[in-house]
Amino acid sequence: MSQKELGNIVDRLVAGAAMDRNGWLRLLSLQGEEERQYVQQRAMEVAQQNFGNGVFVRGLIEISSYCRNNCNYCGIRCGNRSALRYRLTKEQILECCRAGAGLGFNTFVLQGGEDVVQSDDWVTDVVCAIKREFPDKAVTLSVGERSAAAYRAFRAAGADRYLLRHETRSDEHYSLLHPRTMSAVNRRNCLFTLKELGFQTGSGMMIGSPHQTLEHLADDMMFLDELCPQMIGVGPFIPASGTPFEDFSAGSVDLTILVVSLLRLRFPHALLPATTALASLHSRGRELAILAGANVVMPNLSPSDVRNKYSIYNNKKSTGDESAQQIESLRQSLDAIGYRINFSRGDYDDK
Ligand code: SAM
Repeated sequence: MSQKELGNIVDRLVAGAAMDRNGWLRLLSLQGEEERQYVQQRAMEVAQQNFGNGVFVRGLIEISSYCRNNCNYCGIRCGNRSALRYRLTKEQILECCRAGAGLGFNTFVLQGGEDVVQSDDWVTDVVCAIKREFPDKAVTLSVGERSAAAYRAFRAAGADRYLLRHETRSDEHYSLLHPRTMSAVNRRNCLFTLKELGFQTGSGMMIGSPHQTLEHLADDMMFLDELCPQMIGVGPFIPASGTPFEDFSAGSVDLTILVVSLLRLRFPHALLPATTALASLHSRGRELAILAGANVVMPNLSPSDVRNKYSIYNNKKSTGDESAQQIESLRQSLDAIGYRINFSRGDYDDK
């Protein structure tokens, strides 16, 4: 693609024009270093116009490594006998929130496998308890596919946001990544229900998951256009020992960065995390994502003795650092690239 044509396409994206599947495919196929740098630079400018040099922080609490699902890519799939299992109690979660609040966090993200012991009622009760103690803080849930009634109860309890990646828009690709018991249609229906219920909703996909093609990613971009989520998480696939995909290669860091930039250009107000998966694959992954348009980082507030047990892929970046140390090292690494931590709630705002 000529520089002039690329410039025109990016201008149109920045002006809010939708892109067709073929257009996404062409952008996703960009290989030249100069073209990719250009897209990244434009995406960074869009992020700076909307968020300045601030990066929102969310305190991540990994509440359970038990999961009833058996996703082929995931280290905590129920069929992985070598996975280490734990679940946090309500009191432990509240302790994590207290520690996070003390450090200035204004959002807590509760993420976990679909643990049948952490039932809908239990999750609802935990959300109520957090909101009772921290009424002004945002609570984000990421506890998988639940019924519409459960999502309604979570919302009534005060949960503000929900993360559920669609994983892939292609039904065929979805069936290669998941067991037959799981359905792409149900996952998408969950996402539309979450949006209808008023959750700030997050979706997304892995980059370079086994059998994924650029056509699949183009379909993902089209699906995100339809869903219009407030948050979009993309990170590279990383193989996990003890799973059917343990011998596949990891996704590409460069392609992940390109996708982050394209998302920023198409969704200028979206909350886009610099994912842990990217930071796990590349020592500067977090910084590279921010310089490509990402605007969220999720430091880990889980008790340090369980962090290595939430092992969804190999060599997950996890420090035994206390949360205060994590914040200090984040502050320094952001400072080095001209950014700073923004501790505010960071709700979606498209004004
Ligand atoms: N159970 C919840 C759910 O399904 O949304 C939340 C936990 S799940 C482990 C969170 C995300 O981790 C998934 O949506 C998936 O995209 C990502 N993930 C799982 N295994 C991965 C892997 N091997 N490499 C990269 N990301 C992975």
